[in-house]
Amino acid sequence: RKRMLLCVGSFFGSTSDAEWEEYRTGIKKAPIPTYVLGANDQDTVRYFPDVSGCELAENITYLGRRGIFSGTSGLQIAYLSGTESQDEPTAAYNFSSKDVTELKTSLLSTPKFKGVDILLTSPWPRDVGNFGNSPGEIDTKKCGSALVSNLAASLKPRYHFASLEKAYYERLPYRNHIVLQETPQHVSRFIALADVGNTSKKKYLYAFSIVPMSLMDPAELVKQPQDVTENPYRKLQKEARKAKTLVCAEEEPACQFFFDLNKNQGKKRSSDGKERGNSQPKQAKKPPQPTGPCWFCLASPEVEKHLVVSIGTHCYLALAKGGLLPDHVLILPIGHYQSVVDLSSEVVEEVTKYKSALKEFFRSKGKRYVLFERNYRSQHLQLQVIPVPLDLCTSEDIKESFIVQAQEQQIELLEIPEHSDIKQVAQPGTPYFYVELDTGEKLFHRIRKSFPLQFGRFGGLFVLGVFTCCSFSLLPSALK
Ligand SMILES: [Zn+2]
Repeated sequence: RKRMLLCVGSFFGSTSDAEWEEYRTGIKKAPIPTYVLGANDQDTVRYFPDVSGCELAENITYLGRRGIFSGTSGLQIAYLSGTESQDEPTAAYNFSSKDVTELKTSLLSTPKFKGVDILLTSPWPRDVGNFGNSPGEIDTKKCGSALVSNLAASLKPRYHFASLEKAYYERLPYRNHIVLQETPQHVSRFIALADVGNTSKKKYLYAFSIVPMSLMDPAELVKQPQDVTENPYRKLQKEARKAKTLVCAEEEPACQFFFDLNKNQGKKRSSDGKERGNSQPKQAKKPPQPTGPCWFCLASPEVEKHLVVSIGTHCYLALAKGGLLPDHVLILPIGHYQSVVDLSSEVVEEVTKYKSALKEFFRSKGKRYVLFERNYRSQHLQLQVIPVPLDLCTSEDIKESFIVQAQEQQIELLEIPEHSDIKQVAQPGTPYFYVELDTGEKLFHRIRKSFPLQFGRFGGLFVLGVFTCCSFSLLPSALK
């Protein structure tokens, strides 16, 4: 294991020349390899003889004005010395947009650039507090450097250290990808440190160990911590608003408990989604992109966050908006997946965990749940979970009521073996409806092209079937 010390901010703070002379001449020696950024003011420029970086004393290296430092282990450290300036040419202790552009270009032009392990800057990035935990007294909308924000947004550092505000701030990790549109990437952590030995005992040293991203398992690298936030440097909401398309007229409210009982019944719709607006080309890659604002993508500004009960790594649990029962909940993927069939194995695994937690919870309340998915006229997977009192009906009663209703509608309803997967019977992209009991029993119906008109009614009757059988009295009187 290699150890190194990285210094951000002004290395020569109030150091006396005599003290520094001891290091420079070798009387004193830095205990571990130490890397420092350059001057932030005219007074200390004289300590840094070479702008391209140099050894200042044994074990103490000035990284340089800007660039990439690659350790032997593969660790990549990007650095930018000095403070922001608009003037050209810049002073020796300033950087300009030209420096930032050149640093970005040298990295972004490397094939398959994913990000850097560490970014060192002296100023804080402007707006770093957006979407994050409070940085205390520091107003990140006013202080810090917009060029540093721009740099951090492009370089995607796993760790970004800065210091000039003389305050300690560890921001919640933020995403580097747009959840609705891009494949998951690693998160970034911004850490600001106070000055060494400050009298108010604010933290000035951050010790951590890091495996270079080039050596990491890709799945491990892109793991999203629970407290991950939106990217502070992106004007997310604005962009999302701009992206509104005609499609939103077709998007359904979050309270779709009854399926289209009286909505759009005469409207034709092709099953391959071609009707969904022509403004965006269809993507072959998964997960599919929403064609408009999505009510259920967790990162979407349209999500009603107050209904969210629990957030996992891949899924979250939310109360159904306007649910028929107070404990009617939805299990939803955080990313934009259309159906259970589209989910990757780790998402499925977490869905299963949520199901068993809900089963246990509802059983403790004397209830069992009936879960269903309608992969039809919906863009984002919603697993509807309806608790039903145990003493009102057995699981056989529930199944029976579904089957009877289906027969009346001349609809083929298949019972799927308990431990088999929906994926085995449904093809991605084809509409279906399925019901699952908390015993694992499943009923499945493949929605065929000739059925779309009836299906709206059919789905509604299905659910009414359950309630007619076992808990009709629980329905709000308005619906009777
Ligand atoms: Zn979505």
